Amino acid sequence: MTVAVVRAEKAEDVAKALELLGGMGRFVKNGERILVKPNVCAAKPSSTGTVTDPELVAEICLMVKEAGGEPVVGESPIHPFRSARVFRKAGYGDFQKRFGFPLVDFDASDSVVVKVPRGKVLREVRVARTVLECQGLINVPVLKTHLQTIVTLGLKNLKGLVPGEDKVHVHVRGLDEGIVDLNTLFPSRLVVVDAMVGMEGELGPTNGRPVGMGLLVAGDNVVEVDATCCRLMGLDPRRVPHIRKAEERGLGRTQGFQILGENPEEVKREFDLPDHPELNKFMITSVLLRLYHYARKPLDLFLGRERVQRPEGKVGLKEDSCDGCTLCVSSCPVGAMTMEGKKPRIDENSCILCLCCAEVCPRGALYRARK
Ligand code: SF4
Ligand code: SF4
Repeated sequence: MTVAVVRAEKAEDVAKALELLGGMGRFVKNGERILVKPNVCAAKPSSTGTVTDPELVAEICLMVKEAGGEPVVGESPIHPFRSARVFRKAGYGDFQKRFGFPLVDFDASDSVVVKVPRGKVLREVRVARTVLECQGLINVPVLKTHLQTIVTLGLKNLKGLVPGEDKVHVHVRGLDEGIVDLNTLFPSRLVVVDAMVGMEGELGPTNGRPVGMGLLVAGDNVVEVDATCCRLMGLDPRRVPHIRKAEERGLGRTQGFQILGENPEEVKREFDLPDHPELNKFMITSVLLRLYHYARKPLDLFLGRERVQRPEGKVGLKEDSCDGCTLCVSSCPVGAMTMEGKKPRIDENSCILCLCCAEVCPRGALYRARK
């Protein structure tokens, strides 16, 4: 298993990474249908570090085609964003017309429920039918921070195989293990991380700050690629719960593999990372907190409020940035948000501080504040 780190200013530089890995022919057999899965999570261009550069995706499709495969691009953005708008604003609206490769909107296409034989928290999951119709998967995420999972790279990118609202079930069942479950079901043959422009800060994956890294990271094992990306961000990969769990479940290693091309120590940047220890703690207890929300009164009677702790802090609103779009209200899994006039109001007693609202806010108006 090998990871390649190459300097990249433009999409064509992906050829340098593939050359180090032995060429696209290693990953694609003649006549195979190959799903190319970018991260197109929100309605922002790739210059913000939010989504994969469409030119990079097209370049990979071209290489797949030249290797004898039939590439298909597919994605489902963050729920409840409207996929058509996201694709348009992220530079994917005319993808098929511009590059000649099909783009499947997983939210608007047929989907099926499949069993997850090696699932720990997911026994079954709904995925777009296109995913099952492809013989191989090339995973093309962005190098970014994430307010719930510290980073979002190759492993986490597979959540976009699950259409629309069904993503909420992955969160409710346990996001970290759910991410690993998805990767047991759909292993990536090749991962190419768009680190030309990444994203840092507490408000990744949609509202963080862009970081010009000028890199691409590619490899044949998703855990190794993610671990390398963490090191490029100045982060120990084993501090990221879903990467650690993926390693523990035998999906790959976080160290002891070969890295070709640039030396990560020489090209890394110290990223401003989310406040992860507390969030980790929250993610581990999130299922309990959700249960607590729905069974609050009986639990209060038996346990007393102080026995079941909510994470410290609250959701803050930058009123000047909010345009009253209501997306946050529809994203809240426990109904803690309502619109009061043109601004959202948060019921702090119901809020479980999952930050789903901050993740979807297109204007970065919501943030995690101290009490
Ligand atoms: S942080 Fe609170 S208000 Fe925001 S989505 Fe989660 S529960 Fe709802
Ligand atoms: S806080 Fe963000 S998501 Fe919520 S209404 Fe305002 S702009 Fe929309």
